[in-house]
Amino acid sequence: MKTTLRTDITVKDICEGFVYNELEGKGLFGLSGKLTIQPEYQRNYIYADGKRDVAVIESILKGYPLGLIYFNTVSADKFEVLDGQQRITSIGRFLTSKFAIKDEHGMEQYFSGIASDKQELILKTKLLIYECEGEESEIKEWFKTINIAGVPLNNQELLNAIYSGPFVTLGKEEFSNSQNSNIQKWSAYVTGSALRQDFLACALDWVSKGNVSEYMSRHRKQDNIKELKTYFNSVIDWISSIFTDVESEMRGLEWGRLYETYKKQAYDHNKVSKQVKELYSDSYVKNRRGVFEFILGGSSDTKLLDVRVFDEATKKSVYGKQKTEAEKKGISNCPLCAVGNNTNKTKIWTIAEMDADHVSAWSKGGATDIKNCEMLCKTHNRAKGNK
Ligand SMILES: [Zn+2]
Repeated sequence: MKTTLRTDITVKDICEGFVYNELEGKGLFGLSGKLTIQPEYQRNYIYADGKRDVAVIESILKGYPLGLIYFNTVSADKFEVLDGQQRITSIGRFLTSKFAIKDEHGMEQYFSGIASDKQELILKTKLLIYECEGEESEIKEWFKTINIAGVPLNNQELLNAIYSGPFVTLGKEEFSNSQNSNIQKWSAYVTGSALRQDFLACALDWVSKGNVSEYMSRHRKQDNIKELKTYFNSVIDWISSIFTDVESEMRGLEWGRLYETYKKQAYDHNKVSKQVKELYSDSYVKNRRGVFEFILGGSSDTKLLDVRVFDEATKKSVYGKQKTEAEKKGISNCPLCAVGNNTNKTKIWTIAEMDADHVSAWSKGGATDIKNCEMLCKTHNRAKGNK
């Protein structure tokens, strides 16, 4: 890869013809149209928080270095920003009065309102820019290895860079656009932010059954996202048709896997709604996030609910009672071993070798109290728990 260091380009040059797209949240062009600020493989602008964008301007005013900026040389007069897009967009947005900074009196000032010597200082500031020339794959590999100053790229942002093309562009239009009115609906089941690509990442994960890289590589040149969109919507519609009440614990569950496992089964949403309410009000259920898979799977796998277990005092008391009785009768203190036919028939287990079990199963209404507690050897307890 060939690189040329440029030290002659000023803020004024870069911001010549700066265009910012508010809707997409992207800085688009600069350098009199020669520079593409946010190529499709770049993430959206995320510095617009009144902190990071302001910090960029304050650094310039104080004469602090802004760090290296990298351009990819596309042709003799065409460049794309490889690294530095957040900083450049911040500068461009300030110069076009999209945000203000505070002056020495704590007053908010837009670019047009600051003293003219300060305006000049900003405009004349020279940036350190490396122009890079190389093969697409080379540049992308390099792009993957640098960690952008400020906020590192997350996994999906990197994948978007590596597999850039029409498919990623369309995917981002649908799933990474915070103006999309569906985002609110999706947020009931999917965690994260559209701008940081979390919905796109989720849609890709679901449709590819976890093989996101392979899927993106295969569809890279495709100019539609029909399958991606249809599959994602099928999962969302499936969830909302079964679970009519939205609970906060539903966010970020492995819905793609659950959909694949249970999509062929029929559910009565009224009955399901009642079950959810019952489990939510059951104080023995420690893991509410497990409620949905528990119901989908036929309400049998109580491990998903992390049902509250017997406390130590209860276990000790029951153990003592069982041991005394067993020794009197000359049988094992595990009631299931005692009725068996092997050498454990008369074995007295230590408390560490046993676990507490619900005599009447919790799922059938059995309480977690001393009357419903019985100690079993670990082998028998495990065997019973798996039923
Ligand atoms: Zn046993």
